Amino acid sequence: MRFQELARLCLVFAVGGSSVTSFLLRDSFSTRSAGRTETVSPMSCAAVADWKVAPSIRHISDDYDVFLLDMWGVMHDGNKAYDGVLDVVQHLKDKELIIVSNSSKRKENSVKMLTKLGFDPSVFSKIVTSGEVAFQLLQYLASSESQASSWVPKTIPKPFLDLKSRTESRKVFCFGSGNGDQEYLESCGWILADSIANADLIVARGTFVVLDASSIVNKNTDGKEAYFEAYHNALQEAAERGIPMIVCNPDKVRPDAEKSPMPGTVGVAYENLLILNCDTTDLILYLGKPFANVYEIALQDYPDKRACMVGDALETDVTGAQAAGIDSIWVVRNGVHNDDVAAKVNTTKNKDELELLDIGCRQVVEEFNQRSEETYARGQKISPTVTVPYFRW
Ligand SMILES: [Mg+2]
Repeated sequence: MRFQELARLCLVFAVGGSSVTSFLLRDSFSTRSAGRTETVSPMSCAAVADWKVAPSIRHISDDYDVFLLDMWGVMHDGNKAYDGVLDVVQHLKDKELIIVSNSSKRKENSVKMLTKLGFDPSVFSKIVTSGEVAFQLLQYLASSESQASSWVPKTIPKPFLDLKSRTESRKVFCFGSGNGDQEYLESCGWILADSIANADLIVARGTFVVLDASSIVNKNTDGKEAYFEAYHNALQEAAERGIPMIVCNPDKVRPDAEKSPMPGTVGVAYENLLILNCDTTDLILYLGKPFANVYEIALQDYPDKRACMVGDALETDVTGAQAAGIDSIWVVRNGVHNDDVAAKVNTTKNKDELELLDIGCRQVVEEFNQRSEETYARGQKISPTVTVPYFRW
């Protein structure tokens, strides 16, 4: 299968959907928070589990001690903070606030981003980025240390742990962002492989460059055709050789107008090639939501606290929270599902705003669940615990 076909397949998985029939049924509903006084719409449906729709975060804040916060799509749009986000963080400052971002960059980058957006980074108890977890794991694998830090995932699959026992230099091939890829890899103890042929590991942290020690093919400067040819050839050879891959950002789509692909699409394309060539997908390690590794790292200091994940993406934030056994607060009027939800809401009439939102959201979740096999939910039906329009107080 040509790369272009695989890439198209991945994008269909990531952003596609299918038609849905009307399924809404009303049901009785009781809230869990005894102190709550304001309206929470009682809705349920036959196809997905009950959940609440709340006007804003203050309606549910008493239910939780720990808030795991996604960044892009919840707190900012890639450039500026959304309205009301600085205020809601201020109201929640006595809670444990933990950033859990699928950014493939190290946590210092998120500290800079938070500062630029106007936040005081010290308000956050911890900042967990996929890029930081990947860095710590890569550093551990390249070192002689037997004791892993608390940032290294508890469970490391054998193909990756085997890399630790190597005595010679560990060589890596990179699908990168074009922004500091080589520095990132070398500062955690790896060197770029001369080519995919002598790579011990692939790191997927971006969708703009294909990088080894002898060449760099850049989508923007060399053109898409050259990039995709290098991309496909490297993935194909890697699959034939059975090279393990770490995906530093499982996201598949950037939540902007272009809906451009993210490193998760590299992982999914590689999964398909590995199945064809090796009949296995055990050679891919995704670090980030919805996978357990980042939730374990984020929550390890709060085992008995009531935790929730605030996120905009069903496939990562909501699916990951459900898999981790914590509640999810799905933000729907910003972020990756905003257009999907808006389209549903605009086609339904004679309802109040919150009720319209609830109806639209249930249709979007139902559509997601209909194609769940094609997502990280792997066939599981998912449901948020609470839906809110925005991350606002
Ligand atoms: Mg997001």
